Amino acid sequence: MKCPVCERAELAEQVQNYHYRECGLDNVILTGITVRTCPECGALAPKIPKIEALHDCITHALIKKEERLIPAEIVFLRKSLGWSGALFADNMHSDRSQISKWESGKVVMSRSNELLLREMVARGKKIDDYERIDAARKETHKVVSLFVRIDQAKQRWTDEWREAA
Ligand SMILES: [Zn+2]
Repeated sequence: MKCPVCERAELAEQVQNYHYRECGLDNVILTGITVRTCPECGALAPKIPKIEALHDCITHALIKKEERLIPAEIVFLRKSLGWSGALFADNMHSDRSQISKWESGKVVMSRSNELLLREMVARGKKIDDYERIDAARKETHKVVSLFVRIDQAKQRWTDEWREAA
């Protein structure tokens, strides 16, 4: 297949890690997926199977995350519920300006509000193995990335949090 961007070369295919910024999070790396790259212009085109299952997997990983949620993750979870900022404010018994402070990182969401958000997402998604024991209670400054691996044979996504190098 010819590169659709520069049309100067054939795309090369290889299995590699892919930094999945398209999801709105900066710390999600897909592992073991096929990526087409252009040797001329460097254009990247990942083949991402089962996108809906992938997004469920990311959502699930976020509500289980041991570290505090970062602002982009709060936005991701809110969107996973299909909620606007206004609806989010209503459901959190809060107001729009507070929501935008959390989502922009101006104000750190309280731990109890963070647990409430995780609970709402967990119930919305009917996730059975959600454990809230330590989630959001642990004060840590660890910076972690989410590695989401595709099992090509089973076409299943699995998640793992790892400390950023
Ligand atoms: Zn190209």
